[in-house]
Parts: sequence; C-alpha cells; structure tokens
Amino acid sequence: MVNDQIIPRGIKDQAVLAAMRRIPRHRFIPAFYSAFAYYDNPLPIGHGQTISQPFVVALMSDALALQGAKKVLEIGTGSGYQAAVLAEIVPHVFTIEIVEPLATEAARTLAELGYRNIHIRVGDGYQGWPEEAPFDAIIVTASSEHVPQPLLDQLAVGGRLILPVGKAFQELQELVLYRRTTDGYERTRLSLVRFVPLIRKDQSSQPGER
Ligand code: SAH
Repeated sequence: MVNDQIIPRGIKDQAVLAAMRRIPRHRFIPAFYSAFAYYDNPLPIGHGQTISQPFVVALMSDALALQGAKKVLEIGTGSGYQAAVLAEIVPHVFTIEIVEPLATEAARTLAELGYRNIHIRVGDGYQGWPEEAPFDAIIVTASSEHVPQPLLDQLAVGGRLILPVGKAFQELQELVLYRRTTDGYERTRLSLVRFVPLIRKDQSSQPGER
C-alpha cells in the first residue's frame, strides 16, 4: 500500500510512511470489506460513514508536519485508523466522534492494538476540546462549508489545521491548510477531496461562511 499508493504520489514524511506500514488497516474495516482493506479507496464503516482512502490519510498527516508536535486533535474518529496514524507519531491524540457506536468500536479496536495515547470523546467536534487546547495540530476528517471558529481558536501559534471545505454532498471539496502565526492565520489550498459532511445537530448556530 505505502510503496504503490503513497510514495509514488509524493508523500515524504518518513514518520507517516512508517506509521502506515506498521498499522494493520484491516483491523479498522468491517469484516465484510476486509479483503479490500489495503485498496486505493475509502470503504464503508457503517452508519453512513467511511474510512478515508489511504493516500488521503497520508496526505493530510504529511501536511500537518507533525515532527515536534505533542498534542493533536482529530474531529471524526470514524474507524480510529487516522487516530492510530497520529498516535504513532505524536505523544497525545484527542479525537471526537459524534456517532456513539462508531466511537465505541474505534475505542475497542485501538485498545486491542495497544494504543494508550488516544483519548476519545463522543460529541460534536465543531466545538473542539477546549479543556485540552491549545493543539499543535488539528485534523477534521469530515467536510464543512466553513472552518469552525472554535477549532481556529484552539490551534497553538505555529500549529496547523487541515480540513476539507465545501458544500455537503457536493462532488468534491477543497483540502485547506491553516497555519497559525503570531498575528493571524495563513491559508493554503492543497487539493480536491471527497469527504462525508460534518454533522451539525443545531444548524442555526452556524456562523456565516468564512
Ligand atoms: N478519520 C476516520 C474517518 C472519518 S469519516 C477514520 O480514520 O476512519 C468522518 C467521521 O466524522 C464519521 O465517523 C462521522 O460520524 C464523524 N463526524 C461527522 N460529524 C461530526 C461532528 N460534528 N463531530 C464529530 N464527528 C463527526
């Protein structure tokens, strides 16, 4: 998988490549699809959700430039695979999942694989995890029409936030990287991706598009 799908597409971060070589991706996939665990696609994980394509996991992890990072926040635990990749690289991973059964299943898989540095919370990741902020990196693995302000607020100076930005159920979204500087944020557009949308329980509280 790493040699065929990830290195040829230009991912160079050795820690990301090593993590993805080490992690048994089939353990994060429902048994019905496990034959496809190392294929070049996203796969269904139940509840209408998907585990991302391996290359997209690599691309987002690489863009976060995780060397030296201590605390990382993920929104959208899903299967737990992305959290495992992060946990191989940084000391503390915090991850939030809104669908309770997915969080429970991910927690079980990650415990079975021996991860002790991943903290899972059930809830709306839009609000981030203020008690643990600031984070050196934040990764949102569901798409949103705008970047959630609480996540920008919870990013450390020098930290990076990556998320797919675009309309729900549109074909493609833009992968956007924010870097927090001493006086603001730098925004870079990376590529086009396809993600499931970020679920909002109370749409009326959404601030306007940024
Ligand atoms: N990172 C996952 C894939 C995530 S798919 C993996 O490695 O498998 C997107 C996930 O985001 C889904 O599990 C979905 O339930 C979750 N999600 C959607 N809206 C959310 C929200 N507001 N807060 C937290 N999680 C959310």
